[in-house]
Amino acid sequence: MRFANNPQRKSWISVSPDSDFPIQNLPFGVFIPNDDVITIGTRIGNTAIDLSALQQLGYFHGIEIPSDIFLQDTLNDFISLGPAKWGAVRDRLAWIFDYENQELKSNSAHSRSILYPIEEVQMLMPVFIQDYTDFYSSKEHATNVGIMFRGADNALMPNWLHIPVGYHGRSSSILVSGVDIHRPKGQILPNGADRPEFGPSKQMDFELEMAFITSDGKPLGHRIQVDEAEEYIFGMVVFNDWSARDIQKWEYVPLGPFLGKNFASSLSPWIVTLDALEPFRVAGPEKELEIQEYLKHEGEHNFDITLEVYIQPEGGEPSLISTSNTKYLYWSMAQQLAHHTVNGCNINSGDLMASGTISGPSENSFGSMLELAWKGTKPIHLSDGSNRTFLLDGDTVIMKAHSVKNGVRIGFGEVRSMLLPAILD
Ligand code: MN
Repeated sequence: MRFANNPQRKSWISVSPDSDFPIQNLPFGVFIPNDDVITIGTRIGNTAIDLSALQQLGYFHGIEIPSDIFLQDTLNDFISLGPAKWGAVRDRLAWIFDYENQELKSNSAHSRSILYPIEEVQMLMPVFIQDYTDFYSSKEHATNVGIMFRGADNALMPNWLHIPVGYHGRSSSILVSGVDIHRPKGQILPNGADRPEFGPSKQMDFELEMAFITSDGKPLGHRIQVDEAEEYIFGMVVFNDWSARDIQKWEYVPLGPFLGKNFASSLSPWIVTLDALEPFRVAGPEKELEIQEYLKHEGEHNFDITLEVYIQPEGGEPSLISTSNTKYLYWSMAQQLAHHTVNGCNINSGDLMASGTISGPSENSFGSMLELAWKGTKPIHLSDGSNRTFLLDGDTVIMKAHSVKNGVRIGFGEVRSMLLPAILD
């Protein structure tokens, strides 16, 4: 067990029992305090912690890292240092904030320049994402979509049980939680029509996903083996991969997702490290067909993380509409990364790889409105009495994720953004 993961440890920073951010979490993010300078930070309870200030005041002495590694607008350079440094910094943070260690707590001048109430900082994009890949790793999701569009007999395409299917997405439109988005416009083929019309999407949806952030991989031409793949994964975020189903349906043949997908994706601001998630490992689903050797791994490579989706109408209360779990994924992150690089494709620090929509086996665990409302045939009921088949302007989509084990709750906070009306220009 990592030093930082000790479930017995308490912090001198107060943490409520239902917080996603006990001292065992120590995620990484980027924030700007009121009227101050952008910094890399972590969080315990509702306290944001300035890591560049900690470093300048000498609290990371003995750990060989560049002197400005936390005085950055993104985590990319820190991620490039690799797992040994990530772990050393988390372990040191665990000790700095351990209840038994009063050094920083008793130094009020230091505390003032390091600690901020979370509501006094603005969270920013944690990484510069050079490349974004979206997988399709949930068998339940792929099956549901297949049944809706091709019928139950051909639900899964013949490649699906052999390949972690994915496509290259667009990174320029990935946004941090709190940034609202506009309903996209595009070409849509109305039912029964023989030519498309142009206008705002009428079928706006979310996709409940988790995404992982990579470190630098190997030189072009060299693959990452499945058994070493997790060493190249820094951590995970909750990911809302907004989708315009009507635009998607008309455009996707034969090259796949394009404008129905690339107008926006939203992520939670704190990257929870794979180290912090170590206690929540579980085995993935049994493979139904023999898979290629390069995709085979032994042991527990899935993670038991409860996922929730809420819709909050404008001026109203949030309604929980789905509860799913990362453990349902058929293809693990390690298999996704091994597959991504098996042809020699290289990866860079800060690349984002999303799981694809994560649906579970039951109807209340589906990860998109397309499935929850079954192509518009079963409206979703919200607590204010209204119904949804797809999203309305003014709806806020909130996704949360957390795990609990041995009395320790490790969570991701949330990704939250509102759907604004289309820009009429
Ligand atoms: Mn997606």
